[in-house]
Amino acid sequence: VQWFTWTGFKRSLFYTFLMPSCTLFFKSDPLKIIEASGQYMYNEHGQAYLDCINNVCHVGHCHPAVVEAGCKQMHKLNTNSRFLHDNMVLLAKRLVETMPPELCMVYFVNSGSEANDLALRLARHHTKGSEIITLERAYHGHVLSLIDLSTYKLNHINDGMHVRPDFVHIAECPDTYRGKYRNTDHPMEQMADLYVGSVDDIISKIEAADKQVSCFIAESMQSCGGQILYPEGYLSKVFRSVRAAGGVCIADEVQVGFGRVGTHMWSFDAQGCLPDIVTIGKPMGNGHPLAAVVTTREIAASFAACGIEYFNTYGGNPVSCAIGLAVLDVIKNDKLMENASKVGKVLEAKLNELKVKHQIIGDVRGVGMFWGLDLVKDRTSRDPATDEAYYVVKRAKEECVLLSRDGPHENVIKFKAPMCFTVENAGTLVKLLDLLLTEISDGKMAAPAHHKVTNGADTNHSEPVCKKLKPNGTPSHAVEGHLNGQ
Ligand code: PMP
Repeated sequence: VQWFTWTGFKRSLFYTFLMPSCTLFFKSDPLKIIEASGQYMYNEHGQAYLDCINNVCHVGHCHPAVVEAGCKQMHKLNTNSRFLHDNMVLLAKRLVETMPPELCMVYFVNSGSEANDLALRLARHHTKGSEIITLERAYHGHVLSLIDLSTYKLNHINDGMHVRPDFVHIAECPDTYRGKYRNTDHPMEQMADLYVGSVDDIISKIEAADKQVSCFIAESMQSCGGQILYPEGYLSKVFRSVRAAGGVCIADEVQVGFGRVGTHMWSFDAQGCLPDIVTIGKPMGNGHPLAAVVTTREIAASFAACGIEYFNTYGGNPVSCAIGLAVLDVIKNDKLMENASKVGKVLEAKLNELKVKHQIIGDVRGVGMFWGLDLVKDRTSRDPATDEAYYVVKRAKEECVLLSRDGPHENVIKFKAPMCFTVENAGTLVKLLDLLLTEISDGKMAAPAHHKVTNGADTNHSEPVCKKLKPNGTPSHAVEGHLNGQ
């Protein structure tokens, strides 16, 4: 409705009725998005935004094949998952076919948090261990069991209520650019061993205390922690240590799975390692709540033997599974993994060219449709350029390109676009980044507002100048040529 469009008013209305602890994107001037298609989102004025951050609408916003599959099944049947239904079996079979043969048992759930919570339960029942090892900067979900091991959120809290339990152990984040061991101080070939040492130390302490390791849980590439790609061999070596201690290994593919790396469906596979439990979510339903845990027959048997029934009312319902099947079809039919590889190579080349031109870019890292730009005040000290990252995200939004920033210093510009993002879109993005970084080096960045650093939230900037409108009529899939006059 018309009166709901004024920025301050619509924001205060949101917080009148909704959770005050929710941080909206572009908090001081949040977007009201009412329509989307492919890699574009449209606000209430028909303004188009190029979406570089939405890893949920994985195959493209409102992909017609996914929408149709959901609608068709809703017309026929939706029910809880205590009945036989072909969609459930078919989706489980299709998912298992994308995994190594050992990972053959599927549990359907509704969110990444549910998947990871269940994964912890599976690990505990299988190993009889209590101790959990996770990584610094990790985020695995919003439920109690996961907030306890999500230092990404927990490290910001000092209220005496959220105290990390003794059974959660935090290993060094294997960030070779700004972690404990840096690529300037150690040869890359030693990095995996150095960082695995942190996990080995934890295991030794657990064993010295006469306790049993339950699991190691990590994203296969760490997204929330600042787009971290692990040193070669890191995951395999950690998995070996954890298994030798009687624990199991959980790969969280909630953000980085479903072909985002381009070369492989699963990011752990691209690193040549085999987890015992894999959790998947976000992209799986292209915006519809659908997630799963995939594990080995042995682990599933241990869980079944514990005697507690696992029932999830909505997990694997016929509509969700119809949507999940359509997502898998679209990834294949629209050749989205090939596209991720192609766009990834273009981004790699162009972002590294930008790095040569702009001293503020300390590190360019990524693969496929997953990239991070670590902005620094100085390349030697690597002091994080947090205000500059804030400026880039704010200005990009004014130019109708949606980016975000992350990492412990909020200085890493994040890219994790829908998989239909094109080479032309990559060109638009890099051109814009070039412009914005030039503005910074030309001293055009206004004195940074006094903003609080809070996990990607910005808190103060002027009104945007909206220039680009949706083409007339319904936006077609993958519309080109309406950003920045290109
Ligand atoms: N794991 C990772 C890596 C995530 O990024 C998230 C969500 N950001 C989750 C788990 C939790 O997923 P959900 O919000 O669907 O519960």
